[in-house]
Amino acid sequence: MRTPVPAYIETLQPYIPGKPIEETQREYGLSDVIKLASNENPLGPSLKAVHALQESLSKLHLYPDGSSFNLKRRIAEHLGVDPAAVVPGSGSNEIIELLVRTFMGGDDEALLCQGSFAMYKVTLHAHGRRFLEVPMKDGHYDLEAMAASIGPKTRLVFVANPDNPTGTWFGRAPFERFLETARAKNPEALLVIDEAYFEYVTEADYPNSLVYHRDYPNLVTLRTFSKIYGLAGLRLGYGVMAPALASYLNRTRMPFNVTSSAPAGGLAALDDADHVVKSRELNAQGLVYVQQELKKLGVKVLPSQANFVFVDLGRPATPVYEGMLRKGVITRPIPNYGFPNALRISTGLMADNQRMVAALREVLKVP
Ligand SMILES: *Cc1c(COP(=O)(O)O)cnc(C)c1O
Repeated sequence: MRTPVPAYIETLQPYIPGKPIEETQREYGLSDVIKLASNENPLGPSLKAVHALQESLSKLHLYPDGSSFNLKRRIAEHLGVDPAAVVPGSGSNEIIELLVRTFMGGDDEALLCQGSFAMYKVTLHAHGRRFLEVPMKDGHYDLEAMAASIGPKTRLVFVANPDNPTGTWFGRAPFERFLETARAKNPEALLVIDEAYFEYVTEADYPNSLVYHRDYPNLVTLRTFSKIYGLAGLRLGYGVMAPALASYLNRTRMPFNVTSSAPAGGLAALDDADHVVKSRELNAQGLVYVQQELKKLGVKVLPSQANFVFVDLGRPATPVYEGMLRKGVITRPIPNYGFPNALRISTGLMADNQRMVAALREVLKVP
């Protein structure tokens, strides 16, 4: 019998988010639960953002400014770009969706790294678009192989730096070679560089993709308020691209894709540089601690420039994940990314990190 949806929807698997704290409390009868599963900022949002949001609520009867004038101007100032290059969205996830919906037609293909951020694939699949996946190399993007795979039909190339779920990153030299080869193979392919964890990066060789926009007008940079700014629940992210490209997204997006409160929170968050610095420092300490302690448990941990680590347990991760849940520690199994033996674990407050390591030690029965 015919299904009520096209075949590409029938076979679509929903995105599986991290397990919520309340659900874990309910299911396991626990009161004290910590969540290190969704790369959320353990310090919470900036208090300045919270106050600005509270003030914005009395205007909820009004429709938002559909052009996001103030927000675009402030983001543009923050980045040193043209306001017309900025497209705000309901999280950067919406920009991913808009890019696929706007730029891909019938025969066009997207190029992805296998095992990278699942939303690229989910979105392409949901639109019935073709895509090609290039394998990783030792938990890292293989930019050389990706560039080599670009062809005349390639319309979008998705690249996460740092990557999620591995936390790994690439430096300037491989990125510059990638840009060159991509241009030689198909200058019309849009190169989408997803920098959701940009503000967490401490590595000096990390390439800020915005620097390359002038020489490569086919670049699209994605950033978000969900990660270091601690505003994941507000749903605010943005893309930066040539104004001519941005103008197409302004045709296809919903007129009020950003709520009226989101800019209030985002603007205040951009003004609270202290909160960003504190968050970055806490994370840097957390990464050092977690890497060092987890290695003592005999598991493999990939290097990370994000706010989480990829832990290869060398055995099926689901029972370990469940054992940790029973101890009130939520981590993220990632079998749907093709890593059945791995957990992705966000950094938390130092006490959370210690509790996570202790829980894993007990579940793995390491003396
Ligand atoms: C978290 C994350 C995002 C951000 O999603 P939002 O929709 O902005 O909350 C985008 N890309 C990657 C790779 C991420 O990990």
